[in-house]
Amino acid sequence: MKASAKTRRLVITIDGPAGAGKSTTARALATKLGYIYLDTGALYRAVAWKAKVSETNYSDSIAIQNLLQQMDLHVTLEDDTTRTIVDSQDVTAYLRDPEVTRVASTVAAMPEVRDWLLPVQQRFGQTGGIVAEGRDMGTRVFPDADVKFFLKADLDTRTTRRYQESRQAGHGGNQEDIRNQIHDRDTRDQSRDIAPLVPAADAVVIDSSSLTVDEVVATMLESISARL
Ligand code: C5P
Repeated sequence: MKASAKTRRLVITIDGPAGAGKSTTARALATKLGYIYLDTGALYRAVAWKAKVSETNYSDSIAIQNLLQQMDLHVTLEDDTTRTIVDSQDVTAYLRDPEVTRVASTVAAMPEVRDWLLPVQQRFGQTGGIVAEGRDMGTRVFPDADVKFFLKADLDTRTTRRYQESRQAGHGGNQEDIRNQIHDRDTRDQSRDIAPLVPAADAVVIDSSSLTVDEVVATMLESISARL
């Protein structure tokens, strides 16, 4: 279903917890529709990466604000990759590091960080034709999105998926640690005061625990086709 001149270029959002399959399905959906794919987690990870390499105390919001003032963040969307450039350095390959992952959800709870990243994300939605993935796409960044999804899966399923990804990426880690890390990250993301992880009131909620990627994408396309 490639977009044609007759079809509208929609803004589609996918929110949900870690390991629910957001990235894989968002990429597949964007490819099917001929849309761009925006991975907003990469932006929070970029702030975390900069805090790590500059040895900034990532729990200190004043220090993080100073860091943002000196940070030049540039994002390009190439095929199905959100390429993240910090201070002229392409840091995309460093963003899945386990420490960066953990720190990302700490800095993501800071209003200053979220406000700073808001226009960076919204710019990509201006002309439509986008699948944007994150935690607050449907609630805060694109509240007027055409179609909103909230993708969830049970903790065991998400742990197994992340364990397999981690092994493939050569990061190691045992299942119990990964389960605890996901659980801690979900708790931080769900309980923060600003833009907590919750489904938008008008989101289509999909439980991917026992669905394949193709099945999730097919379910999403059913909701989308009515809007094209
Ligand atoms: O999606 P990903 O795992 O890359 O996101 C890393 C972290 O960035 C999340 O745990 C969350 O704390 C934060 N995040 C967010 N809002 C988004 C995307 C990511 O708070 N829209």
